[in-house]
Amino acid sequence: MKVDLLTIFPDFFRGPLDYGILRRAREAGLVEVSIHDLRDFTRDKHRTVDDRPFGGGEGMVLKPEPIFECLDTLGLAPREERLAGRARESVILLSAQGRKLNQDLAQELAALDCMVLICGRYEGVDERVSDYLADREISIGDYVLSGGELGAAVIVDAVMRLIPGAVGNEASTRQESFTAHAELSGDSPSSTCVSGGLLDYPHYTRPADFRGMPVPEVLVNGNHDEIRRWRRRRALEKTLRNRPDLLDPNALSDEDKKLLAQIQGR
Ligand code: SAH
Repeated sequence: MKVDLLTIFPDFFRGPLDYGILRRAREAGLVEVSIHDLRDFTRDKHRTVDDRPFGGGEGMVLKPEPIFECLDTLGLAPREERLAGRARESVILLSAQGRKLNQDLAQELAALDCMVLICGRYEGVDERVSDYLADREISIGDYVLSGGELGAAVIVDAVMRLIPGAVGNEASTRQESFTAHAELSGDSPSSTCVSGGLLDYPHYTRPADFRGMPVPEVLVNGNHDEIRRWRRRRALEKTLRNRPDLLDPNALSDEDKKLLAQIQGR
């Protein structure tokens, strides 16, 4: 996948994309990241990227010209082709007003050949970028950041690790929190305990006893089926406590419903 980042702070991305899975995916050629400094696409001697808002009001707004001019150099398919799904390319504007990022959206983006991320700053970006240039607006959550760069780094991280080959053990990205569909088979305790759209189950490693805090007995001495049931119960418990909105009664198995009834003391 090719990723193009449009920003007025190109140095911001030194670091976030240089570690762990992301670094390995880049080194392995699974993903190619290019950072474009919007000031390189200005024509005045002050390299101006922002201006005052029409109609008055607070702050400054990112000007459309540098963003359109930068996009022109990327050789993308026309916007209509992209919007019709005939090109596996997407131009994304980071925006607090966008569709909220979740694991399903990350999966959708992981199927693209090219992802362009436009990072806003100040009061935001001239709306013509959203109306005529970007294919969609994405938000990383219901809060306001001071710029799109952190959001872009979050999207790149969430998407990149879903690209086949990026994570050593691919099964691990299919049984994590929020992942509703998993095509796993086998009878090991973990492979039969996919998250099914719930939060992940708790993980433990050595030492088995740390400062008097023991690892749950079942994980040390249990059999595969007991471990699976224990993990499912803990995943249900945590989802009920922290994210009840994720509990869809229609998606729960009979066993899940029994476990849930036990948890709720019914
Ligand atoms: N005036 C805007 C906020 C602008 S913040 C509003 O009230 O909606 C400046 C830039 O930060 C935005 O243009 C966007 O690119 C980025 N940004 C802010 N919050 C964000 C969020 N939750 N998700 C993604 N990008 C965000």
